Amino acid sequence: MSENYDIIVIGGGPGGYPTAIRAAQLGMKTLCIDSWINTDGTQSFGGTCLNAGCIPSKALLESSELYHRAQHEFAVHGIGVGEVKLDLKKMQERRTAVSKANSGGVKMLFQGNKVTGLFGFGKLLGGGKVGYKSHDGKEETFTAKHIVIATGSEPVNLKIAPVDKDRIIDSWGALELAEVPETLGIIGAGVIGVELGSVWSRLGAKTTILEALPGFLPMVDQAIAKEGLKQLTKQGLDIKFGAKVLNAKAGKKDVTVEYEQDGKKETIKFDKLIVAVGRRPFTKDLGCDVAGVQLDERGFVKTDAHYKTSAEGIYAVGDVIGGAMLAHKAIEEGVVLAEQLHGEKSEVNYRTVPSVVYTNPEIAWAGMSEEQAKAAGHEVKTGSSPFAANGRARAMESIVGMIKIISDAKTDRVLGVHMIGPYVSELVTEAVTAMEYGATTEDIQLTMHAHPTLSETFHEAALAVDGHAIHSANKRKPAAA
Ligand code: FAD
Ligand code: AMP
Repeated sequence: MSENYDIIVIGGGPGGYPTAIRAAQLGMKTLCIDSWINTDGTQSFGGTCLNAGCIPSKALLESSELYHRAQHEFAVHGIGVGEVKLDLKKMQERRTAVSKANSGGVKMLFQGNKVTGLFGFGKLLGGGKVGYKSHDGKEETFTAKHIVIATGSEPVNLKIAPVDKDRIIDSWGALELAEVPETLGIIGAGVIGVELGSVWSRLGAKTTILEALPGFLPMVDQAIAKEGLKQLTKQGLDIKFGAKVLNAKAGKKDVTVEYEQDGKKETIKFDKLIVAVGRRPFTKDLGCDVAGVQLDERGFVKTDAHYKTSAEGIYAVGDVIGGAMLAHKAIEEGVVLAEQLHGEKSEVNYRTVPSVVYTNPEIAWAGMSEEQAKAAGHEVKTGSSPFAANGRARAMESIVGMIKIISDAKTDRVLGVHMIGPYVSELVTEAVTAMEYGATTEDIQLTMHAHPTLSETFHEAALAVDGHAIHSANKRKPAAA
């Protein structure tokens, strides 16, 4: 029997499940097939993000931050808590529960929106057909007018440091450690590397990150990245730049890592080593060749501006098509694709995709850095304001960081906003909204911000662009009245 659907989505992560939900809302008969299996053997929707990415990492970042604060920050508020003890088993149980609650939510949303959700593997068979195989071996073939590939990504493996799931682990393994390693090595000081490094360092691991590039977060405005590195170093993270790992060998008791820095070979030993060198598209056994779906030289599914692949009736969204490998980018693409298939004129604005590093302080940005804006030929004017000049930040005892606005000197249009400080993961959305509406810095200057709030620093940064900041020093001379 081959049941016919309007749309079949392969993959139930942030790319797939919103595609399915939006398609069903728009009246399409929808099937979503997802193959995720957790390490405890359970199956759940939500993909990498909910099960082994965004959500569990944020759960651990929150718990480890509270542990750190109870030890180091409560006293200044006049709170004594005695000896602060770590119950890692409980912390990990909470992390699992948070993931399961979120993925259970997707299952409920499927039911509420009349999406048929199936756990198992989906395969392109060509001619509008999808083969389905459940994890216990049940097989079926379905047909659909539209098929969407949302199979996501997996961690990049390094041949020189093969993951053995014991001494050498990937980001998923790093979320599920049952003990705090005494010494922890991480290859890669990208977003995932520094977030995982922060978690385990706060919980007591002596943490070293080896990064091949010469500098920190090259995609972030360097004034912000510099402050981020200063704070992470102060917290005890040892980040070695220009340190290219040559090989890693797991022994019974530890891992020996050989790396090259400044032309010299060095050797270092760790209890555990996390390989966090990026993610690559996942299309294994998907049947792209059978269905005529072309991949690019890096393995990403090739699509046009409407997410259409080289095969008639087959589309793709999320990590598997490349670009920013972020959950919200995948969600937007999925929703937009479903609407386009329904005949609507939706589109994703890739100029305003926000990015966040959930360290403490958080780092967040949207749009161009000063360096990128200049390289793109803009004459820029910038303004920045420190959280040290913000009353709410002082009340929170969280004054590290700043917000920097980069504007076009001729049009005053905001080109980018880069920030570091408390809750900038939330504040960055104000910048995205401003840029989405094509705001100038003057528009932001004229927008009233509640007092006392962290968002006043965004307002002040906009005022500083014209030398009008009230609560902080102006680097620019005031514009003539
Ligand atoms: P995925 O989430 O990978 O989902 C793909 C799904 O498809 C999976 O469930 C997979 O099992 C399934 N699948 C694959 N092949 C098949 C098949 N043939 N049949 C059926 N199912 C299949 N992003 C953020 O925006 N914010 C963050 O804070 C953040 N933190 C992260 C932290 C970590 C540690 C990691 C690893 C990633 C993080 N990300 C974060 C990235 C984010 O997880 C991804 O960008 C996002 O999950 C991409 O969604 P996706 O649906 O394209 O792919
Ligand atoms: P991201 O792609 O943001 O997850 O970051 C991964 C980081 O890993 C990049 O900054 C790479 O430069 C770094 N990286 C990749 N391979 C190596 C290596 N062999 N040694 C050290 N760093 C590496």
